Amino acid sequence: MENIKNKVVIITGASSGIGEATAKLLAENGAKVVLAARREDRLQAIVNDVKQLGGEAVSIKADVVSAEDMQNLAKFALSKYGRIDVLINNAGVMPNSRLSELRVEEWEQMIDVNIKGVLYGIAAVLPVMREQKSGHIINLSSTSGYQVSPTSAVYAATKFAVRAISEGLRLEESSTSGIKSTVIAPGLTKTELFDSITSPEVQAVANQISDLGISPDRIARAIAFAINEPDDTLISEIMIRPTAL
Ligand code: NDP
Repeated sequence: MENIKNKVVIITGASSGIGEATAKLLAENGAKVVLAARREDRLQAIVNDVKQLGGEAVSIKADVVSAEDMQNLAKFALSKYGRIDVLINNAGVMPNSRLSELRVEEWEQMIDVNIKGVLYGIAAVLPVMREQKSGHIINLSSTSGYQVSPTSAVYAATKFAVRAISEGLRLEESSTSGIKSTVIAPGLTKTELFDSITSPEVQAVANQISDLGISPDRIARAIAFAINEPDDTLISEIMIRPTAL
């Protein structure tokens, strides 16, 4: 994957799951990865793993719910590597429940992390990418960004929103500034995402189906594929599902 080499890639939610797998795969292919999340110890362990394999990585604590943290993240990447080629807006939470449970704080958390976090990421890197006249923003939606099921209304709403934002970004930027926008839509993937569920009903279902999930490496490969395409080709959307679901 020759076009990944030397690209400066920021990844939010890089401390576990899809973010971690993507960081490792991109670094293996020569990218300079800037890892962000709240758990600094986990980030540092991943940076150490990458460096041991001869890759290039740095990390910084950043909460995507803070616009200031996201600005600092972009500044940190610029101070380390002088440019930002790719932002992967990957951080997300999924405390699903029925609307009638009225878990209003969890609704707000999903809106803050999954929607506002993506927007704050875009706000932090878009001026830099416009100045560079190149860049690529990759947003993690979900199969829930296409289909709603009982207990997923708010999560699905946030992932529909991620698709709308990504499409708007593509329409506004790709033909003018050349900045690319890609949506990645995973189906069930074996990660820590299900740990954020507090509803006993949803947790029971999650326990039953979690073994059917695919490895986060599969999602990382799709992300790497989108980044590796040459400047004249935009992968605007990829959905990756477990075959069995
Ligand atoms: P994980 O729980 O393993 O990873 C989520 C990451 O998001 C963690 O690194 C966590 O880091 C970070 N995060 C959560 N809240 C914040 C915050 N406020 N600020 C910064 N980072 C935050 O789950 P996945 O790897 O599965 O999730 C990655 C993305 O993929 C999400 O957007 C998710 O919605 C999406 N997705 C996942 C699917 C699945 O089946 N697993 C299916 C479809 C989409 P920390 O706690 O250290 O901050």
